[in-house]
Amino acid sequence: MTETHCFPVRSEGDRPSSGRACLRDVSRYAADPTIARIDLSDNTNLWGMPPAASAALWRAGATTITRYPQPYSERLKEVLADYVGVSAELIATGCGSDDILDSAFRAFAEPGERIAFPDPTFTMVPTFARVNGLTPVAVPLTDPYGVDVDALLAADARIIYLCSPNNPTGGALCRDAIEAVIAGARSDQLVIVDEAYAEFAGTSVVGLIAQSDRLLVTRTLSKAFGLAGLRIGYAIGDPALITEVEKARGPYKVNSLAERAGLAAVTEGLPWVREHVALAIAARSRLTRELTERGLEPAESAANFVFLPLACGSAIARRMRSRGVAVRALENLTPVSEALRASKGSALRFTVGPWELVTEALSALDEARQSCG
Ligand code: PMP
Repeated sequence: MTETHCFPVRSEGDRPSSGRACLRDVSRYAADPTIARIDLSDNTNLWGMPPAASAALWRAGATTITRYPQPYSERLKEVLADYVGVSAELIATGCGSDDILDSAFRAFAEPGERIAFPDPTFTMVPTFARVNGLTPVAVPLTDPYGVDVDALLAADARIIYLCSPNNPTGGALCRDAIEAVIAGARSDQLVIVDEAYAEFAGTSVVGLIAQSDRLLVTRTLSKAFGLAGLRIGYAIGDPALITEVEKARGPYKVNSLAERAGLAAVTEGLPWVREHVALAIAARSRLTRELTERGLEPAESAANFVFLPLACGSAIARRMRSRGVAVRALENLTPVSEALRASKGSALRFTVGPWELVTEALSALDEARQSCG
């Protein structure tokens, strides 16, 4: 288990421009600013968005913009609740699920407390932890890509974060393991299950919320629903948890245009979403097969991306980028599988999309691997 302490204190002589002490080890998120011809790097919906959502955006009149949205997106909560199969008092919305995670960390843990999460997982988790003065405790996945239930429970954390399907490794976590974490958590511990990619897995733990007031599930409209640029995320949990998340989050975080498009996407747009989730699942199987046929070892994915341990991943990604294809390169990953040990912790992550795009990425990969020797 690796632990990074983060509870630095201000020292005399600190100026306002140096920010809070807990921000010292935090960097701004670094995304490559150049636009790639084919961008398979961010797990968004490469088919686009439901036509009903774009129609709602075009229809939005000036009053949609000149007035404030509803403070806590009450209308959007109603339709999200119908979609998920719960009542609206179990839903909180946010400016992306990033905002929900950040708000939940702030709502439930005091500065100096710990948050435990599997490693590797969603890279923003340790960042949001530090920003909120929490101590991130990374618990390596078991080999290959499983959850270490005992180590997570032993981490003495106020919050245990799980991600299923897990980003970047792509697999859905074993349901028994998630249930064991929830059952084993102390009454003062919160378990967060990040289901940003749930639509592509066809499984969810939302049903467990009825039995646990310590479980918060987070979701997003950025992936299957194709609305990443509008920034809409939501949480599902016991109403008492939801109120705390909303207090920490503050009002008006989902803007009026996002609310309009989100409403349309989750109602009229659902058939489009389901159709394109099916296409993503087919593309993911085909990409996994193509990579395996090249003698590579992609991890089994339940998401809209495929994780490929590969030596010299960053160098290969740079060569692919010079051919106009962006994929996500990951380095120094904790070696939680044979393939990751062989690649020395280096990997690529490919978002799946229309097959023409994936084929171009495969050609770029083949060429880049040849020139990398
Ligand atoms: N959770 C996971 C696992 C993710 O991969 C992402 C985005 N890449 C998010 C949450 C945040 O998504 P958003 O803020 O767009 O809802």
